[in-house]
Amino acid sequence: MTDWNEEVDVLVAGSGGGLAGAYTAAREGLSVAVVEATEKFGGTTSYSGGGGMWFPCNPVLRRAGVDDTFEDALTYFRAVVGDRTPAPMQETYVRNGAKVIEYLEQDDAFLFQTFPWPDYFGKAPKARLDGNRHIIPKPLKAAKLGDLSESVRGPLGTDRNGEPQPDYLVGGRALIGRFLLALTKYPNVSLHLNSALVELVVRDGAVLGAIVERDGARVAIRARKGVLLAAGGFEGNAEMRERYAVPGEARDTMGPWGNQGRAHEAGIAAGADTDLMDQAWWSPGLIHPDGRAAFALWFTGGIFVNQAGERFVNESAAYDRLGRGIIEAIQAGTVALPFWMIYDDAEGAVPPIKASNVPMRDAQEYVRAGLWHTADTLEELAAKIGVHAETLVATVARFNKQAEAGVDEDYGRGDEAYDRAFSQGESPLTPIARGPFHAAAFGISDLGTKGGLRTDTAARVLTESGEPIPGLYAAGNTMAAVSGTVYPGGGNPIGASVLFSHLAALDMTTR
Ligand SMILES: Cc1cc2nc3c(=O)[nH]c(=O)nc-3n(C[C@H](O)[C@H](O)[C@H](O)COP(=O)(O)OP(=O)(O)OC[C@H]3O[C@@H](n4cnc5c(N)ncnc54)[C@H](O)[C@@H]3O)c2cc1C
Repeated sequence: MTDWNEEVDVLVAGSGGGLAGAYTAAREGLSVAVVEATEKFGGTTSYSGGGGMWFPCNPVLRRAGVDDTFEDALTYFRAVVGDRTPAPMQETYVRNGAKVIEYLEQDDAFLFQTFPWPDYFGKAPKARLDGNRHIIPKPLKAAKLGDLSESVRGPLGTDRNGEPQPDYLVGGRALIGRFLLALTKYPNVSLHLNSALVELVVRDGAVLGAIVERDGARVAIRARKGVLLAAGGFEGNAEMRERYAVPGEARDTMGPWGNQGRAHEAGIAAGADTDLMDQAWWSPGLIHPDGRAAFALWFTGGIFVNQAGERFVNESAAYDRLGRGIIEAIQAGTVALPFWMIYDDAEGAVPPIKASNVPMRDAQEYVRAGLWHTADTLEELAAKIGVHAETLVATVARFNKQAEAGVDEDYGRGDEAYDRAFSQGESPLTPIARGPFHAAAFGISDLGTKGGLRTDTAARVLTESGEPIPGLYAAGNTMAAVSGTVYPGGGNPIGASVLFSHLAALDMTTR
């Protein structure tokens, strides 16, 4: 028998998308404890500059006059995810995001806005090329949160570069801030920082509660209705990455330090089945002076080349497709790390990256660290970065010719709506013509792992034989992703975390 130290209806581990579960449970009249392993609320969700959610046909989009249908959105999602994840899971995701937004908008703490972001597979059937399946939270004044605002993780400029926290919460921080604001209305909620769920308490196959390490002490918390594991991925755990063969390194992940997979391990120990454990949401990573490659997107120039001086991917593809292309090339032995972005002086010496996520530091720091190089000619540049000079010259000449014609015959750069999203719908191919020429070192980064505990459509965690484990739920990157081995559209990770956390809480109300 466990001597319980505390008792609640619902225990939520993790304060990213998991806050949607805490909020729903509290609003439905249940008592809730949120335990967050680190010193800040928000997880990777807080690091997202957009906080976007891919929820087709939601009320924000409907009010804006968007003519989408659930059937079209489902056709698209099924086409790109295929049979890698169960069809009922896919249908639940596509059809229920709109309901979550309806639910949240009944509370004045939540305000959202449209933010068009084209689907990531523009040639798939019913892809939304105008980007109208994606919404973001409206910014929130930090002062509205009072003291709590300092407990919201990020932004990345603060955590990685020591910049002061801004007066407004935007993107993922606004989403977390809005959930915290909404939660303060409910006296039946307690929020605990520095509190990691380390073990589930299981009796006769059912989860009754959990052991939480809080400020060094072990606390046994009984959860009468259930435990929701929304503790992110295991991207920060080098040993688990190796065990499950996840490409990329813990050093280069965007996940905050607390995402170590302890909730995954607790779920597995309680009998949970897992899936997709070798998967992550990938991206190319600009290498910063601290040696870490960080998720970068929105390139307004440049090409990527390997050590042979050849291009090897569509540089304007959506970041996970691009990341997977780079990983394939590494596995095929045609690319080694670092590879290089080659660009001209049209925008100066700083690489033409408009969203580095981790703000770039002073250019000299990259130069001193051997990460950025400049030369008057491509031949000299090639010599500085150890790339085959003749091939680099030929690659740039061929690319420039294709840029003039506006067609990338080699990698189809610019063929899809997303590729053109950052060049006002025009071709993203810009010639590399004006010296001096520059090179910036790149690696592989990820936004977190996406393999985890297998669940049903109510976010109930399943055993290998497909039976739900009573009292155990998972969402977000702790669950096996509904999107399988692809990233269908911006807003899938946070969308799946918010939605399945919400559904978990609703299911708990029926227990
Ligand atoms: C720069 C950037 C931009 C992005 N933009 C978007 C976007 O616009 N839309 C989108 O959908 N996705 C985006 N992503 C991806 C997305 O942010 C993450 O995949 C998603 O937020 C993960 O949500 P989560 O709830 O699963 O985990 P997280 O938000 O990472 O939260 C997990 C929390 O659980 C805590 N935790 C871990 N273990 C324990 C434990 N044992 N006990 C208690 N707590 C624990 C962690 O400390 C963490 O705070 C972006 C990512 C980055 C880096």
